[in-house]
Amino acid sequence: MTRRVALIGKPLRRRHSGVMHNAAFAYHGIDAAYELREIDADQLAAFVQEARGSDWLGFQVTAPYKEAIVAHLDRVEDSASQIEAVNSVAREGDGSLVGFNTDAPGFVMAVQDAGVAISGAPAVVAGAGGAARAVVWGLLAEGASEVVIANRTFSRAAALAESLSHLGPVVAVPLDDRALVTALVDCRIAVNATTVGMTTAGTALNVNHLPDDSAVFDLVYVPPVTPLIAAARERGLVVRNGLDMLVNQAAIAFERWTGIADTGPVMRAALEDWDEVDTGET
Ligand code: NAP
Repeated sequence: MTRRVALIGKPLRRRHSGVMHNAAFAYHGIDAAYELREIDADQLAAFVQEARGSDWLGFQVTAPYKEAIVAHLDRVEDSASQIEAVNSVAREGDGSLVGFNTDAPGFVMAVQDAGVAISGAPAVVAGAGGAARAVVWGLLAEGASEVVIANRTFSRAAALAESLSHLGPVVAVPLDDRALVTALVDCRIAVNATTVGMTTAGTALNVNHLPDDSAVFDLVYVPPVTPLIAAARERGLVVRNGLDMLVNQAAIAFERWTGIADTGPVMRAALEDWDEVDTGET
């Protein structure tokens, strides 16, 4: 029996996830296929019913269903509840569907693999959308000394800071405020969790304010070198684009589905061999 997994969302324009998971299935000799399923909101219930079948290992979820999916699942892990986003679901042995979030641990792994300690480090995160929420949650859960959230729409940064303040010190500043410069001067981990660099030119954070021993993580991976990445490299800072997080989060889901750990290198190699040019959302 060919086992099934899928990515649901709308629109689905990026095919990175299928490339990574199908390469990992092939590498490990697992008869399974990762499908892209672009569905409308009124098809969500029927899809979940289908995914309860014994041929399914689980599925992944992208915009706009990361919150809406919760109502259809049997259980949601605490971290995903706090992040308010389920991006992966595993079908357990008893047929129940459990929702979890792989973006936060995927980001944390990317930081750790870059040799950067989170515990005790002050951090700045640009953005207050879904990705920023996972990143801020991950940084606070790992003991960052303070997280400053800077967002174009200040009210969204303030709401995010307020909702995660029980996890640790977190404050919000407007993206164009002097307070952001002060935060960058003290920062050890700077993260771009906006779409700037992907959909718009320029950078959300000015790396010139960062200390020499800081690290820059851009969640954007298309293009692989954003203006932020280029500027951080120019400064000689530790710098990573969003590919590490993308691969890590996929490997975490793959392990949950198959029990096989450490497939990141296989997945990354598959992406590097894949020469198709993509535009648009995950
Ligand atoms: P989202 O929920 O749509 O949030 C977009 C964020 O970008 C908001 O904070 C928005 O600010 C900000 N923004 C948009 N245009 C801006 C501009 N011109 N100037 C300043 N800020 C601007 O998106 P998301 O899902 O969080 O994703 C954010 C980025 O992370 C995307 O590039 C996505 O590809 C990437 N991502 C990467 C991974 C990975 O595995 N590497 C995983 C998830 C996401 P406002 O609130 O003011 O609109």
